[in-house]
Amino acid sequence: MRKQVIAGNWKMNKVLNEAEQFVQAAKNEVPGEEQVESVVCAPFPFLHSLIKETEGTPLKVGAQNMHFEESGAFTGEVSPVMLKDLGVSYVVLGHSERRELFGETDEDVNKKVHAAFKHDLTPIVCVGETLEQRENNETMNHVEAQVKKALEGLSDEQVQQVIIAYEPIWAIGTGKTSSAEDANEVCSHIRNVVKEFSSETAAEAVRIQYGGSVKPANVDELLGQSDIDGALVGGASLEADSFLKLVEAGK
Ligand code: PEP
Repeated sequence: MRKQVIAGNWKMNKVLNEAEQFVQAAKNEVPGEEQVESVVCAPFPFLHSLIKETEGTPLKVGAQNMHFEESGAFTGEVSPVMLKDLGVSYVVLGHSERRELFGETDEDVNKKVHAAFKHDLTPIVCVGETLEQRENNETMNHVEAQVKKALEGLSDEQVQQVIIAYEPIWAIGTGKTSSAEDANEVCSHIRNVVKEFSSETAAEAVRIQYGGSVKPANVDELLGQSDIDGALVGGASLEADSFLKLVEAGK
């Protein structure tokens, strides 16, 4: 039985005080880690404080990106070593906004996934199609190629620990959600890709989240699908009340 993982992606929102208030309200209200994994992926400047604030609670803190190098002349970048040193546990990699707005490639994502494992960070690897690709029936091929490239060179054991977030780009921040059945069909395809690419054990173990306008009103139906093991949530993760409802649904 795979444990659901509910991850909030705050994107470039909040100031420190607001972020701290959120975790103070949520940290002791989220269910125990044995029931569901609860993660907030916060902007870099808040990570240190939020990790201190959530120590010893089931609420985990993740980053939204990182560089694949450990250190060096990469002005403005943040390394996996820095994240690990702070106590970060998860890192979102290859979010469509990173790919579309900052030119991140499948190859970059693959390097970042390897760097995450090297530094004991759990990668949440985002994949998903554009509206045009969906309309041209290219969803499955596109997502398959993204998954294969992201996982290239990983051991079977590492593949088992990856979290894949299937996020149709047309559903992110738009209020449009994929139907639960359509989302499950793509997640099921991803699981088959993992099976062929790595092993049946890896396919059974890998967690596949859905992301794209998930909210308290639609989360139960999405998480009720056979191949959806959680959610990556933007807008509806910004308020503690709403985040707690999503996490509750993951129990
Ligand atoms: C996201 O940021 O990954 C996301 C899915 O956003 P939203 O829930 O707002 O669509």
